[in-house]
Amino acid sequence: MTTTAPAVPLAAPFAAYRGLQDAVLDGRIDGVRRRMGSRLVILGHHYQQDGVIAHADIQGDSYQLSRSAAERADCEAIAFCGVHFMAETADILVNRPDRVAARGGRRVAVVLPDMAAGCSMADMAAIEQVEDAWTDLGTVIDTSDITPVTYINSAASLKAFCGRHGGIVCTSSNARAVLEWAFARTKRVLFFPDQHLGRNTARAMSIPLDEMSLWNPYVPTLGGNSRGQLEKSRVILWQGHCSVHAMFKPEHVDAIRAAIPGVKILVHPECTMEVVDKADLTGSTSYILKQVADAPSGTQWAIGTELHLVKRLEQNHPEQTIRFLSPVVCMCATMYRIDLAHLCWSLEHLERGKPVNVIRVDDETAAWAVTSLERMLAVK
Ligand code: SF4
Repeated sequence: MTTTAPAVPLAAPFAAYRGLQDAVLDGRIDGVRRRMGSRLVILGHHYQQDGVIAHADIQGDSYQLSRSAAERADCEAIAFCGVHFMAETADILVNRPDRVAARGGRRVAVVLPDMAAGCSMADMAAIEQVEDAWTDLGTVIDTSDITPVTYINSAASLKAFCGRHGGIVCTSSNARAVLEWAFARTKRVLFFPDQHLGRNTARAMSIPLDEMSLWNPYVPTLGGNSRGQLEKSRVILWQGHCSVHAMFKPEHVDAIRAAIPGVKILVHPECTMEVVDKADLTGSTSYILKQVADAPSGTQWAIGTELHLVKRLEQNHPEQTIRFLSPVVCMCATMYRIDLAHLCWSLEHLERGKPVNVIRVDDETAAWAVTSLERMLAVK
């Protein structure tokens, strides 16, 4: 990284940033961005709070952000305002060996402004648990006839597991196409970590519920399944979920429909099957954004996805009436940890050539993760 002497105070411990007012932090962040120019890219996930999004060079979902950053040839450092697995994906894609070689051996530093910004869903599937499950499954069914599929919301080690075992990554936009790819190769799929995306997608493909089983990694015997159940299953769902989207309930849909005749219910497929069944429309974040952008003025919506995204839609589409589907706050509390203070702290360290909270996926894990990501890219 280029280390010009910045016109900022010596980078201090995080505690020194905690009490600073937002206006001060905004000014210091703007200063780093101005001085570093295109060498710095700040990525802001759709679920991020507005104050942080205001400083993002690119806003999007996790995969879009990583791919866009990888295309910026002069980028030397990335601050990923998202959660841990997203920064890992950015590191894997931006620092692929061919890209590092094209930069003359220079890696791009990827930092996560607060290391506590994790993902409850990703944390529900540890690599040791997935490896144990794979071994256990092999005592009942032939694992060469199972394609492991991991949602992109997972640790790099799980993406690498899929790479090693003929598996693949999916996003909420391409989950169906990925499952079709998998079923063209094997009879069964092990889908992790989000049971809801897996179940909702498989059902949309007309796979009956009795051909799906749920694997509980905390039950020592076959994940809580009988041998017969597993033998019958085409889809083995990992018992994980997003703690944000799981808060939307079918009764929320009923209450909104009763209160607002004609309202359109639009939800993300990380919601439970019961919520999806009652919704009018279900799709990924980009699908949700497009539905609202394309709708005529005066459309009434109740949307079931992360709160900050829904609030931003409300601000950006005053010609429509947009409500949050749940009466309770459903926000990604871990992503919310990335605030102006953490962003400013990490940027000022980056500028001084002393990055903090660097996310670095080891080379072997990254190589296998790229394999499963590239399989996904090949799926049309
Ligand atoms: S919204 Fe859910 S899946 Fe997305 S980062 Fe937060 S906890 Fe993870």
